[in-house]
Amino acid sequence: MFRSHTCGELRLTQAGSSVTLAGWVQTVRKFGAITFVDLRDRYGITQLVFNEGFNQQLDENPLGREFVLQAKGTVIERSNKNPAIPTGEIELEVSAFTILNKSAVPPFTIQDDTDGGDDIRMKYRYLDLRRNAVKKNLELRYAVNRSARNYLHENAFMDIETPFLIKSTPEGARDFVVPSRMNQGQFYALPQSPQTFKQLLMVSGYDRYYQIVKCFRDEDLRADRQPEFTQIDCEMAFVEQEDILNMFETLIKRIFKDVKHIDYTDAVERMTWEDAMWQYGNDKPDIRFDMKICTLKKPSTVYFNKQDHATLINDAGFVVFDAAESVMAIAVPGGATFTRKQLDELTEWVKRPQIGMKGLAYIRYNEDGSLKSSIDKFYNEDRLKGIAAASGAHPGDIVLILAGAEERTRKATSELRLEMGKQLGLRKEDEFKLLWVLDFPLFEYAEEENRWVARHHPFTSPKPSQIQTMIENDPLIHDAANYLSHPYAQIKANAYDMVLNGNEIGGGSIRIFQRELQEKMFAALGMSEEEALHKFGFLLGAFEYGAPPHGGIAFGFDRLCSILGGSESIRDFIAFPKNNSGRDVMLDAPSSIDEKQLVELGIGVRDEG
Ligand code: ASP
Repeated sequence: MFRSHTCGELRLTQAGSSVTLAGWVQTVRKFGAITFVDLRDRYGITQLVFNEGFNQQLDENPLGREFVLQAKGTVIERSNKNPAIPTGEIELEVSAFTILNKSAVPPFTIQDDTDGGDDIRMKYRYLDLRRNAVKKNLELRYAVNRSARNYLHENAFMDIETPFLIKSTPEGARDFVVPSRMNQGQFYALPQSPQTFKQLLMVSGYDRYYQIVKCFRDEDLRADRQPEFTQIDCEMAFVEQEDILNMFETLIKRIFKDVKHIDYTDAVERMTWEDAMWQYGNDKPDIRFDMKICTLKKPSTVYFNKQDHATLINDAGFVVFDAAESVMAIAVPGGATFTRKQLDELTEWVKRPQIGMKGLAYIRYNEDGSLKSSIDKFYNEDRLKGIAAASGAHPGDIVLILAGAEERTRKATSELRLEMGKQLGLRKEDEFKLLWVLDFPLFEYAEEENRWVARHHPFTSPKPSQIQTMIENDPLIHDAANYLSHPYAQIKANAYDMVLNGNEIGGGSIRIFQRELQEKMFAALGMSEEEALHKFGFLLGAFEYGAPPHGGIAFGFDRLCSILGGSESIRDFIAFPKNNSGRDVMLDAPSSIDEKQLVELGIGVRDEG
């Protein structure tokens, strides 16, 4: 028997018992003739005491950090207790020990506050994983996994594995491909998601499917994206949108409860995509705080069928606003006291290339009700009051105003809102706010190709009331500059995203399940009949054999874990992640392969020599 207990287990009640522990040497401290060793395993740390009698043995075979040690002895009460750790009341008086294995000096300290930089910890990930901080994250990940599985199992979902070597499934990203040796010149693709398989399972009658599954997308890696990531992937048959929303908001609430011990009793808020964009400037609003965007001016050629407040700013002779396509404002609570310096810094902030604005106008709405602005020359106090009121400002607030092209300005105002929320401490890490965003547009316009692309994916159904619009109209866009006037631009999808604290954590849709409508969809996306058959013949075929109405959702498992763990980075929640260039620096992958392998795969140059 290697060990009778773990290093996290012994308490004062066990004093006097003989035990055997095994673990890694965290620290060795010599105190006069006595040697103290902190022995660590996955469960905790126990202090070992080696008294004088071991000195010769320890001198001949000194213990080093990360040595693997087995120690037998008696549990005794500590005179110098350590309340910081659960085993802090006892120590193990060693009677015999064995060095099970030696360790080279680790390249960084295996402690909560390690001295190791990012790169070195990635290279020696197996050592980094010994650290508490990383271990806690993996434990949380496993807790989320178990909670999800329990809930889905209790609700009759079946975990069914789907293949990794498949044919390309378009979800908007590039596929990773795998050459086939047995079918030379041909390639498998790794799934971007099990989308078509889970739909086929619905046709097969497995009406509640789930999988916690790897997905692969060959995207340019923006910060905090992984080329392989994990989804909680789900699909249900005989459901409407409402059924899906209920089933899966309850899943997330269950995870909150099991993992964070939070009772999320509030109803999950719902918002249309249009309201999200209009009020928050993005489709995954952080609703932990208000500060909604006020559109003072919008161009006539814009998607949103909403009223602006142009009369408040027009006819003042202010060329910046007059010349701008759009003007937007937010009222920052308590901002009237911002100093000149703070405003200068904010102005610099909006001028950064990532934000791309030319400047920042402001109106201070002082506590005493007076108004002072950077645009006083053009607007008298009455007009300023009107703008402040439309922006929702109260005395004590400041109104920040941005002007420019619609899309860019909306995005910039949204970013400014989030930044102000952060600076004011309104985005609390321990507050969780769920939101469903609904009624997304079905199509998005792809300018370079002058055609429609599916906003979610091509299997998403339109709102039932708009199916006719889709069938009756020609998808071709004749007037590119005016694509918003095409009837397709207004078609809404039966799709939904779940948003948590400003992060999209899941998304899905009610699917098309009739062959004709699916064919119409492929055609709308500019696919020829032949191409549609070549790519999706299997799905179109399956729809002819009794496909039930169905829909589903997939959650980004890594992201969900990182939010619940209060971290910005999903990498911290993946045992063996890739770095920002998509490399595994521990394995040094990707790497070149042998010429012989290439030749076997039919993609190498054969030496005919
Ligand atoms: N397959 C979709 C995705 O990966 C999710 C879904 O529609 O269920 O985003």
